[in-house]
Amino acid sequence: MKNIRNFCIIAHIDHGKSTLADRLLDFTGSVTEREKQDQLLDNMDLERERGITIKSHAIQMEYEYQGESYILNLIDTPGHVDFSYEVSRSIAACEGALLVVDAAQSIQAQTISNLYLALENDLEIIPVLNKVDLPSANPEEVTDDIVDLLGCSAEEVIPASAKTGIGIEDILEAIIERIPAPEGNPEEPLQALVFDSVYNPFRGVETYFRVVNGSIHKGQKIKFVATGKDYFADEVGTLKLTQQPKQQINTGDVGYLITGIKDAREVKVGDTITDANKPTDNAIAGFEDVKPMVFAGIYPVDTEDFEELRSSMEKLQLNDASLVFTPESSAALGFGFRCGFLGMLHMEIIQERLEREFNMTVITTVPNVSYHAYTTKNTDQSIIVNNPSDLPDPSTVDRVEEPYIKATVITKSDFVGNVMSLCIEKRGQITNQTYLTPERVELNFDMPLAEIVFDFYDRLKTVSKGYASFDYAPIGMRVSKLVRVDILLNAQPVDALSALVHADNAYHIGKKMCEKLKELIPRQQFDIPIQAAIGSKIISRETIKALRKDVTAKCYGGDISRKRKLLEKQKKGKKRMRQVGNVEIPQQAFMAVLKLN
Ligand code: GDP
Ligand code: MG
Repeated sequence: MKNIRNFCIIAHIDHGKSTLADRLLDFTGSVTEREKQDQLLDNMDLERERGITIKSHAIQMEYEYQGESYILNLIDTPGHVDFSYEVSRSIAACEGALLVVDAAQSIQAQTISNLYLALENDLEIIPVLNKVDLPSANPEEVTDDIVDLLGCSAEEVIPASAKTGIGIEDILEAIIERIPAPEGNPEEPLQALVFDSVYNPFRGVETYFRVVNGSIHKGQKIKFVATGKDYFADEVGTLKLTQQPKQQINTGDVGYLITGIKDAREVKVGDTITDANKPTDNAIAGFEDVKPMVFAGIYPVDTEDFEELRSSMEKLQLNDASLVFTPESSAALGFGFRCGFLGMLHMEIIQERLEREFNMTVITTVPNVSYHAYTTKNTDQSIIVNNPSDLPDPSTVDRVEEPYIKATVITKSDFVGNVMSLCIEKRGQITNQTYLTPERVELNFDMPLAEIVFDFYDRLKTVSKGYASFDYAPIGMRVSKLVRVDILLNAQPVDALSALVHADNAYHIGKKMCEKLKELIPRQQFDIPIQAAIGSKIISRETIKALRKDVTAKCYGGDISRKRKLLEKQKKGKKRMRQVGNVEIPQQAFMAVLKLN
């Protein structure tokens, strides 16, 4: 135990976490030439393309230091707010963290929020000033920023380049010298923290854990405390680039477990594994059932594919327990599912996976957060509103509550005014303003989560010319004035286009929606009126003028193959269109409300 070090890397996106992890693996000889890939730890295709680590993993390195051999477990943490609970559990499995700061970019919002998590868990922080090789690096200034933030000395900050290898040996030395060895009692009943799980279609769910007390061995009968279920440990082992089966994993160490579980929902991040025959009295603190934050409808483009979509979603859920879905039907779109996601990125990932892995073409409706409505009949019992159509009739509503977040923005002092105006426009309330340095300001505000679903990120980038970073955490429900804006095409309401919005913005959004839909819906053989309404009251109107002639008309008498090509092309373009009544609506139209500016 005294020669084990468990650590994670905290960094804002693109500050070099993955590159540094690769360099550490390289330096400790944990990778053979054959195993070398660009980004070793990001092994899902999607992650590689998006350049973010979606699922956290762990990897074990061995390192000789002053004549002794050490085991270094690097626990990777996801880099996006959608996965913040997983970040918190990965951090809880460590004794130390490398705080990686880009020497050209300095401290950003994600660095700060994850640093706070690490400090709450009493982690030893090792500040690393990365990318010192860059000509644009500002090592002195950024070191000062780090010193101010941590209250450490400048000497503790390690200058490094994950790219060229500068400072890597110093980082390894600091991991061994500064991070405490794990504590824990090998004699106590097994107590292991689940910090991640990965679905493997052949072997079932692989559970990643950190042993806090006792030990876990092959063949042991174990119990997951939160789910209350028992299993046999078919295989336990440590994680190198490949899995290394072992007889036993001891106190303080990190490993994987295979039990033949086929459904990701049976393994919950944050749960405690114990011995079924000699269970611990104490679950490890901090377990939470993760709840979806954003909801949207997913419908097959072709109504006949509904059952296939269901089976694809079930398979996806086996390996992504945070995806939830229930069947719903829409007058406009037919049968589909109301799905819950951890956030907008998670939603995009699910949509992309349905298409890539299951070959499904789907239509996604406007996402919304989950509201609580109370009717005048029963002012204590909330009705959960995950779909605009679930909102009770306005005349019966006592009040509606919506989820709020605490937002953290770090920006340059020049942009403070702009960011504050944006925040107020987004119904936010400034709670705090701190100058980290004379040029860099941290702003905190409380704001409705729904505003992030809309165009907050893009707007923040624009008003700060890209010099702002953003992070957030949920802080509970607050009362809000909410209405449903309905859209009518050809005088028919299209339920899948309805949106829940704040009453003060309803007219503006209704008007913009009509304008946007006019742009997005192709002209057809007849005029199409577009109307926005609140209840029976029409608040805005536009008209799509009829097409004047057949597109293929100009080909008559001409080259027949050219005509066929044109028709083919039209058919392809139609793929993601839905016929609603006699109007064809493209996929973008269902998301139009998100892109109103
Ligand atoms: P992550 O998002 O924190 O995992 O960041 P990555 O490791 O993916 O790095 C983001 C970008 O910065 C990549 O293009 C890296 O090649 C680059 N990068 C990482 N470390 C260094 C460094 O020390 N020097 C330079 N010049 N570039 C680096
Ligand atoms: Mg990365």
